[in-house]
Amino acid sequence: MNASSSSEIMPMRPPLVPLATLIGRERRNDKPLIKYGQAALAKKGEDYFLIKTDCVRIPENPSSVFSVFAIFDGHNGVSAAIYTKENLLSHVMSAIPEGIDREEWLQALPRALVAGFVKTDIEFQRKGETSGTTATFVVIDGLTVTVASVGDSRCILDVQGGVVSLLTVDHRLEENVEERERVTASGGEVGRLNVYGGTEVGPLRCWPGGLCLSRSIGDMDVGEFIVPIPHVKQVKLSNSGGRLIIASDGIWDALSSEMAAKACRGVRAELAAKLVVKEALRSRGLKDDTTCLVVDIIPPLHFRIPPTPRTKQNKFRSLILAKRFHNLINKSTNKRSSIGVVELFEEGSAVLVERLGKDCPSKTNSGLLRCAVCQVDQPPTDGLPVNSGPLSPSSKPCEGPFLCTNCQRKKDAMEGKRST
Ligand SMILES: [Zn+2]
Repeated sequence: MNASSSSEIMPMRPPLVPLATLIGRERRNDKPLIKYGQAALAKKGEDYFLIKTDCVRIPENPSSVFSVFAIFDGHNGVSAAIYTKENLLSHVMSAIPEGIDREEWLQALPRALVAGFVKTDIEFQRKGETSGTTATFVVIDGLTVTVASVGDSRCILDVQGGVVSLLTVDHRLEENVEERERVTASGGEVGRLNVYGGTEVGPLRCWPGGLCLSRSIGDMDVGEFIVPIPHVKQVKLSNSGGRLIIASDGIWDALSSEMAAKACRGVRAELAAKLVVKEALRSRGLKDDTTCLVVDIIPPLHFRIPPTPRTKQNKFRSLILAKRFHNLINKSTNKRSSIGVVELFEEGSAVLVERLGKDCPSKTNSGLLRCAVCQVDQPPTDGLPVNSGPLSPSSKPCEGPFLCTNCQRKKDAMEGKRST
């Protein structure tokens, strides 16, 4: 096991600081504090994770800082998990337009996550290696949490009042009827392992390949209907913040979301991750790689309020906070999934076209079109807008984003269309 934590390191006697930096620092202090812990036990050694708390939206602008936490549970080897850990973040970032403000950036993020996942899959498959991986990728900017995932590494959210919600969807053939129907419609076969004598055993798998998951990154030997298109959910936490638990199926096969949240409530994130792994181990033993990240998002107002013990003053302060929290909820008109959380976005479709929006193809200065997935520039004749139907003389000038030949081929293959 291995634990780590974030902490702000301030110099003892700071030298003269430029005004811009001071302003930046001030703004940064409005941001919630991120505290995290990590724990893992390996059985096959195919789980990988990523922790990055110093990402910036705007280069060299520390006030635009955001954090990324991710888990990659590999299968049939480790290369897909390693490749995804090393490249997914930059592939997602390259799909976000430059020079936009924070609100626009957060709005562009779900689509960029789709593009980044698909690009990572295409680039990894190009290497000709056969392994695959789940990917649960969490972006935290202020109180806004955006989660994109393929596979069955879950992310749960625990907020004030003990309300636990699932931010991911399990892409397992056994548990997901919709995904089974999609895979079958795209040319895959879904069934259990046949042992000698015709008895069927184990979970539902798709053939060829025998994978239990319906979405993943990599897996070039399994069939293109196992798509890398992530389920994406974006939520905004209330001013009381919240705790995320991100873990591979080694945890979730042993513990429900509520059990995992309960196993570590009231404990600092560094220790919490260890407690969740310990609880999973106690109930099931070590049967699989087990990795857990616990991330606390603590708003500035809460910095100095310890969870226990409660003094009179703290009780009073919590009352004030509860009232503020209540007012915030009442003011909000957005759809709410649970107390203290405003749902901003959710989309899980496996159809690429539905995930890229209907914006016009983006033209570069030289008249080339930029691919909405891999950001490669191509002359307009070499690819088609993804939403283009049969050609007609009165066709509208804008028919959705552009895909390069390569990504168009990938899109057709994922939908079960043969392309040569
Ligand atoms: Zn492309």
